[in-house]
Amino acid sequence: MNYTIEKVTTLIGARRYGDKEANISFVLTDSRSLCFPEETLFFALKSERNDGHNYIPELYGRGVRNFVVETVPEDWNRRYPDSNFLKVVGSLEALQRLAERHRDEYLVPIVGITGSNGKTMVKEWLYQLLSPQMVVTRSPRSYNSQIGVPLSVLLLNENTQVGVFEAGISQPGEMSALHDIIQPTIGVFTCLGSAHQENFPSLDAKCREKLHLFHDTQAIVYSLDDEVLNRCLDEYDYKGEKLCWSAKDEKAVFYIKSIEKKDVETTVTYTWKNGKEAQYRLPFIDDASVVNSITCAVTALQLGVTPAALGERMALLEPVAMRLEVKEGQHGCTLINDSYNSDFNSLDIALDFMNRRPDHKGRRRTLILSDILQSGDTDKDLYNKVAFLCEKRGVEKFIGIGEGLLGQRSAFRHLGKKHFFATVNAFIHSDVFANLHDEVILLKGARQFGFDRLTELLVKKVHETVLEVNLNAVVDNLNWYRSFLKPETKLVCMIKADAYGAGAAEIAKTLQDHRVDYLAVAVADEGVTLRKNGITSNIMIMNPEMSSFKTLFDYDLEPEVYCFRLLDALVKAAQKEGITGFPVHIKLDTGMHRLGFDPQKDMDELISRLKHQNAIIPRSVFSHFVGSDADSFDDFSARQFALFEEGSGKLQSAFKHKIIRHMDNSAGIEHFPERQMDMCRLGLGLYGINPRTNKIINNVSTLKTTILQLRHVPAGDTVGYSRKGTVEHDSLIAAIPIGYADGLNRHLGNRHCYCLVNGKKAAYVGNICMDVAMVDVTGIDCKEGDSVEIFGDHLPVTVLSDVLDTIPYEVLTTVSNRVKRVYFQD
Ligand SMILES: *Cc1c(COP(=O)(O)O)cnc(C)c1O
Repeated sequence: MNYTIEKVTTLIGARRYGDKEANISFVLTDSRSLCFPEETLFFALKSERNDGHNYIPELYGRGVRNFVVETVPEDWNRRYPDSNFLKVVGSLEALQRLAERHRDEYLVPIVGITGSNGKTMVKEWLYQLLSPQMVVTRSPRSYNSQIGVPLSVLLLNENTQVGVFEAGISQPGEMSALHDIIQPTIGVFTCLGSAHQENFPSLDAKCREKLHLFHDTQAIVYSLDDEVLNRCLDEYDYKGEKLCWSAKDEKAVFYIKSIEKKDVETTVTYTWKNGKEAQYRLPFIDDASVVNSITCAVTALQLGVTPAALGERMALLEPVAMRLEVKEGQHGCTLINDSYNSDFNSLDIALDFMNRRPDHKGRRRTLILSDILQSGDTDKDLYNKVAFLCEKRGVEKFIGIGEGLLGQRSAFRHLGKKHFFATVNAFIHSDVFANLHDEVILLKGARQFGFDRLTELLVKKVHETVLEVNLNAVVDNLNWYRSFLKPETKLVCMIKADAYGAGAAEIAKTLQDHRVDYLAVAVADEGVTLRKNGITSNIMIMNPEMSSFKTLFDYDLEPEVYCFRLLDALVKAAQKEGITGFPVHIKLDTGMHRLGFDPQKDMDELISRLKHQNAIIPRSVFSHFVGSDADSFDDFSARQFALFEEGSGKLQSAFKHKIIRHMDNSAGIEHFPERQMDMCRLGLGLYGINPRTNKIINNVSTLKTTILQLRHVPAGDTVGYSRKGTVEHDSLIAAIPIGYADGLNRHLGNRHCYCLVNGKKAAYVGNICMDVAMVDVTGIDCKEGDSVEIFGDHLPVTVLSDVLDTIPYEVLTTVSNRVKRVYFQD
């Protein structure tokens, strides 16, 4: 986009304060993503927990001069010279209005995609199918929200020949805003499922809400075989062209005569608008891919792709990589792998992701990029933009791979270090490759360039067993618990025990990025590790050792204080260092009888000792529920809370400064939101397990391994140590490289539990060994090298903890350190 500030003012109907001329090319809603300050217009959005207006001083300091605000800062003229403030009633609505007006400028076909699953895959595949013959502008990654959609639509430009945008909703009433921004000419409905169902009274209600996207479209694409959808569509009295598909009903506009699955491909035979029978082959066999390919086929045919071209391009479809992965690399490198389709916008998002993850060692930031294909720009324009982006985003070393980049190498002349290669192979055999060390490397390449091979060489060889940690799920869980809290209630996230096994450093980076108020770990060393990983948030130490005081002061780690002996020793140590006002957190024992001051007997003495020194200062006071997870303890919890109110009230009234009071843990936040006080402490729930129901909220951790070896074992033979595992029938047994030393509890053996092999249950046979376990895969379609899920997305960790007669906390925290953690984010 490119607008003068006057033009923006008119488009969004704002009142302008300031008269500086400016050209706007970028829109910003999150201050952390700032890249091009001079040409940026910042929208100060207000949400429940945050207010964009608070970031104006910082952004002004970094060079931003144009702001859309709901309240103009006092004294703006003097405090922010040379700026423009566009005052509107609602900043989000103004952003949406700007996108609407921008959309109005384009007469090209626009595809709007909605549905419960598959939106991003359909959007990306449509891009792959259409881009050989037209310039496609599409939503980056899965930008489909009330903010993501306007940002996507603002990417429409003079080159665009077709727009493809996703629309996602989670609440009633959201779709009509998205409709007005996208104004699709073709609507695509992928499928109806249960996502966000909790916010809608019925499936029909959610379906009707989604149909708002199709209001006045020229055509819609949908399945005639979906009962709810067709019922809602009938009520809706849709006037446009109905491009329905079906495998059952010959009257469908796209009628599927047959779907044949072979080893690695599916052949779909169809007729379109009563034309000749045609076929395409798809290089996937799973049902979701087949359905998504059909949706894409109908849309592409409607947009003028011929059946012959469709057939050719379908055969070349590539999987859609949704994930940004963070992995440990060779020679002290960290790899951020993003094999999501390479384009300018997703490159910007990936660089932003890299920059937001602090790195204590100050390692060099390196980008390895392949040619960007089918951008619609000339190579010259495209790579000038890319080079400028790299400079702005702080890329210190650039490695370009492909003829396109090689040809435009001069565009990168301002970057410090840069290297160019025609192919991945040439790079792999170069000194540049051999000399990679101690760098944070973002790998961003189109699949055809063979980046898979590159990743494989760069990643540290790991034991085949990995714990995959889904950072989006962590954020979703955080938000789910935040939804119980008042906007002003603070939150401590518990990342003790290496973030319940998920890995404290990476989890902390994600939480810091989402502005949680405190992080809490058990011991000082864990806090030091966080500081060394660039974590600047407040950190609380729950079990400070007497020997660690100096470390606490040096690294700004705030200890919990639970007894007089600790209190006195801490005061003494702080005085010796000449420290004053060091924040501490006072723990009261209201019934756990573990650690803490007695809220009835100890308070006067505690207050007196605190008052007679100035080395430390109580920042917060807290206690811990014994049984907030079970209703049967509600009376006891009420007594605990009363005791806490009494003790903490006394402490507060003895001091003038505000002392933060907190009691709720995960279960408490959900069960006793009225007891949230000033702050809550979120633990297990963050990692996706609801301690009250033992159900999974959004799964975070998946423990995975692979089949090492398969063998047939005849009936009557035994498997493993001590001949414990007798097989009764001729069996197929798989050995997997995970044992009790990895945290696979030995009590799961001897058929007490199972893992999943290609989605099917496979029981552990015989005793689990130290490094290996054997599972029964008789009747399961599998081969050596196939992936095995121990717990995670498809097998809840609570199944294991139930078998072991323990709690999920224990299973999660015993996954051993030698199991590599791999982090990913959509
Ligand atoms: C671990 C811990 C929590 C978190 O408990 P969850 O049940 O995991 O939510 C809260 N407070 C204290 C003091 C803790 O030690």
